[in-house]
Amino acid sequence: MSAMSQVQAVEISSSQTNGEWDQVEIEFQDRSILCVDCGQDFIWTAGEQLFFHDKGLRNEPKRCKPCKQAKNERLAAIAAAQATGMRQRIEVTVLCAQCGQQTTVPFYPSQGRPVFCRSCFLVNRNADGHDS
Ligand SMILES: [Zn+2]
Ligand SMILES: [Zn+2]
Repeated sequence: MSAMSQVQAVEISSSQTNGEWDQVEIEFQDRSILCVDCGQDFIWTAGEQLFFHDKGLRNEPKRCKPCKQAKNERLAAIAAAQATGMRQRIEVTVLCAQCGQQTTVPFYPSQGRPVFCRSCFLVNRNADGHDS
């Protein structure tokens, strides 16, 4: 019987903070996001989401880490080229829409448009009857 009064005492003390933690604590879970550049799933970790939340950022990441870094490097290369006034040869890594091979193209593909490797591009062009 004495054990029961102990349980009651615990219940009373815990009820004093009841409800507060529900509002303070936001639960983050690892999320899987499709990278817009390479089309592969990557994990947006709970820790990174918490970082986003703390910074008040609203735009969720669209790229996996390697693609994000590659994009930053491209932007940096463009900025550097513009700063020096020099034209730089660009090379963008993409997946060919036809054969699925990873390849590089000397231009920035616009989103949503299929990009082909050189051989598939030539095959498609010849199939169109525009044989050069
Ligand atoms: Zn990616
Ligand atoms: Zn191809």
